Amino acid sequence: VRVLLTGGSGFIAAHVLDELLEQGHSVVTTVRTQEKADKIKEAHPKVGKDKLDFAIVEDIAQEGAFDKAVVSDPPFEAVIHTASPFHFNIQTSVQKDLLDPAIIGTTGILKSVKKSAPSVKRVVITSSFASIVDGNKGTAPDYTYSEKDWNPITKEEAPQNAGNGYRASKTFAERAAWDFVEQENPNFSLATMCPPLVLGPIIHSLTGLDALNTSNQRIRNIIQGKCKEELPAGAPYLFVDVRDLARAHVLAMEKPDAANKRFFIVAGHFNSQDIAEIVRKNFKEYQDALPPKDIKSGGYPEEGVYKADNSRAAKVLGLKYISLEKSIVDTVKSLQAAGA
Ligand code: NDP
Repeated sequence: VRVLLTGGSGFIAAHVLDELLEQGHSVVTTVRTQEKADKIKEAHPKVGKDKLDFAIVEDIAQEGAFDKAVVSDPPFEAVIHTASPFHFNIQTSVQKDLLDPAIIGTTGILKSVKKSAPSVKRVVITSSFASIVDGNKGTAPDYTYSEKDWNPITKEEAPQNAGNGYRASKTFAERAAWDFVEQENPNFSLATMCPPLVLGPIIHSLTGLDALNTSNQRIRNIIQGKCKEELPAGAPYLFVDVRDLARAHVLAMEKPDAANKRFFIVAGHFNSQDIAEIVRKNFKEYQDALPPKDIKSGGYPEEGVYKADNSRAAKVLGLKYISLEKSIVDTVKSLQAAGA
């Protein structure tokens, strides 16, 4: 299949790209600069231009940003849209830094596909558990989240802080995608991926450990000795390994039955104490950086925590999951290779 993958320079997208190439697909990936394209090319020295090519899209928040990128020869048959800001550093405003790129980026690519890429049959969008979880429910030990749940966050709550801003950006963007499909009746069907915290090895180009993607920062901080006195609270308490999530994206693109479905892609529960104990067991070199075994912070809430129903992904995509231990061990090894 000829695929357009957005945001190829990202943590998750790098794994999606590798999975696509491994399955024999032909990929054009969007990046913001030629330098980023060159780095990805360098990481795949044996892959020809017919299998891996690039399109520069500087800012997905601009109207029409994808108009040129969706046109290709041979034409695209599928689109995987991962590009969206995942950070909590507000420079200008929640609207400009988080909401606009997420929402305009999503509706923008759907509009461009409908207008200029009629051969596209499936669009897969990286949404998030952020668009499922209801902050008002708290730790909700008796509740089981699934694809039927939607984060009820409002436009008024969105700009209150960066955390709200990020969760709203994912919720509003995914809603906008489903609304688009319903109202515009395009040639393609949609599938959305809703992962919680994504852990796993970094294979994308990094300028340094300070530039590490948001979801792996907790592991970095623990091995750097930043959590000796206090471990971070556990939310979202659910994780998936990036390699499983990448496989899920590609399967959702390939499988006819994935059409017009949301997928909650969850491997299981975790907390910060689990991460510290896995590091203690597997890496001699970080013993002095770790908090004491009996530290109080970073565990599950006393009353318990919500559960997750991941049966749809098992049934439709056939997904099985890498364990927390393997995910953490492989992440730490990749951080070591990056200088940790
Ligand atoms: P990264 O920060 O590594 O990747 C984000 C990607 O989006 C980068 O390629 C980035 O480009 C691109 N991007 C962001 N804003 C813009 C913009 N305005 N214009 C063009 N490109 C932009 O994070 P992840 O890989 O973790 O995130 C990928 C997707 O997965 C996101 O949609 C995120 O919301 C979602 N997700 C991630 C989770 C996680 O735990 N990691 C959990 C749930 C969902 P550049 O590098 O050039 O800035």
